[in-house]
Amino acid sequence: MESLTKMELPSEEQYLFCIRCGRCLPECPTYRVTLKETHSPRARVMLVRKFVEGELEPSPNFIDQIYRCLDCLACNEVCPVGIKPADLALQMRAYFHRTQPQPWFKPLLFRGYFPHPGRIELSMLPVAIYQRLGLQKLLHSLKLNWLFPAQLRDLERLLPNPIPLRPLRHRLPETIPAQGERRYRVGFFLGCFQNTVFAEVSWASIQVLTRNGCEVVMPKDVRCCGMPHIGYGDIPTFVELARYNISLFEGLVVDAIVTDCATCGSTLKEYGKYLGDNPEWAERAQKFSGKVRDVSEFLVEIGFEEPARQLRARVTYHDPCHLRRGQGVWKEPRQVIEAAVTDFIEMEAPDTCCGAAGTQLITHYETSVAILDGKMERVAATGAEILAAGCPGCQLQLGLGIQHRNLKMRVVHPVQLLAEAYGFAGAKGL
Ligand code: SF4
Ligand code: SF4
Repeated sequence: MESLTKMELPSEEQYLFCIRCGRCLPECPTYRVTLKETHSPRARVMLVRKFVEGELEPSPNFIDQIYRCLDCLACNEVCPVGIKPADLALQMRAYFHRTQPQPWFKPLLFRGYFPHPGRIELSMLPVAIYQRLGLQKLLHSLKLNWLFPAQLRDLERLLPNPIPLRPLRHRLPETIPAQGERRYRVGFFLGCFQNTVFAEVSWASIQVLTRNGCEVVMPKDVRCCGMPHIGYGDIPTFVELARYNISLFEGLVVDAIVTDCATCGSTLKEYGKYLGDNPEWAERAQKFSGKVRDVSEFLVEIGFEEPARQLRARVTYHDPCHLRRGQGVWKEPRQVIEAAVTDFIEMEAPDTCCGAAGTQLITHYETSVAILDGKMERVAATGAEILAAGCPGCQLQLGLGIQHRNLKMRVVHPVQLLAEAYGFAGAKGL
């Protein structure tokens, strides 16, 4: 927990280097779209320094600069002297959470909502009914949605249509047997989004895993990985969630813990680091994190079966920040896609952030959309008909980008392409 609450401040030499450097600025999406130094990683580093040295109050502008950071990790990766502006921004948020008055809805969301899968499921039900009654289609065909301000319009069409009426965890047994001879037994960490919105993705993952000789155990009582809590500084609730999930999976004898959500995966892999200073939990957390694999990473590790026939499609791929930089997983999703389709094409700069970063579309709409627009220009230039990305947050944001540009294209998780090439029937087979 200390790594999230203790401020890892740069040394005096690092600060002196930083003032004259600027290497991270062109890598930072918030700087690139505004060209304002205050929106850059270097500015965030300096603001934190001034604050710690007592020269700066936690003004609304300072707090906003810290929350503007997308935690895309690009600056951490390129800094030549090892400063980690992205980590500093998260540590600063944890400090604000502890010391500053918080908006009334924050405890409701972070303690009363995210840790309770049943409540998340219940909140999705009105959306599913709204879509199924045809109200969304009606609204769009009468063009009434254009009466909304742009941000509301985008939020209204962000979710895929239709989202499932029944969450995935209620539709599957806890243990799904391997097809043919069992070679592995894997625990499956079902993310909140995959359970309620992208059930098709996790259904595809489970089918692909079983096809490759895995018995899949999916604990139904799994809770949020805690990433929203890290992102908004609520470290005590994050720690509770991490301990809960570790205990839950300790009861299973599995070779690996697999997830198809990049954000969940990067968080679960860091439980070992975050809980490392607690003697009771350090070893348990490290053991848990050591078993976590992204689904593409695990499939490559076990040597997945190449499909007999590839899908005839032109596909491009977006690297989710928490998969590529957070986990160092970037070759494996490409290997999965290249095995599944006839035509894979790289877009320019596939590893730049799409602007989703949790709730940026709500909190910093203009910046989020400007970053998305740059990404979609590069996506459109590929001429692909399918855009793959292994993170539900990115999938939602990219889906919105497709609507903005009226592109004839669908967004999928790479594992869905493999499932399709194997001949699985998607969610219809559920
Ligand atoms: S994490 Fe990304 S958005 Fe945040 S400061 Fe670094 S480069 Fe900029
Ligand atoms: S790359 Fe590192 S040293 Fe250079 S400006 Fe960014 S944070 Fe400072």
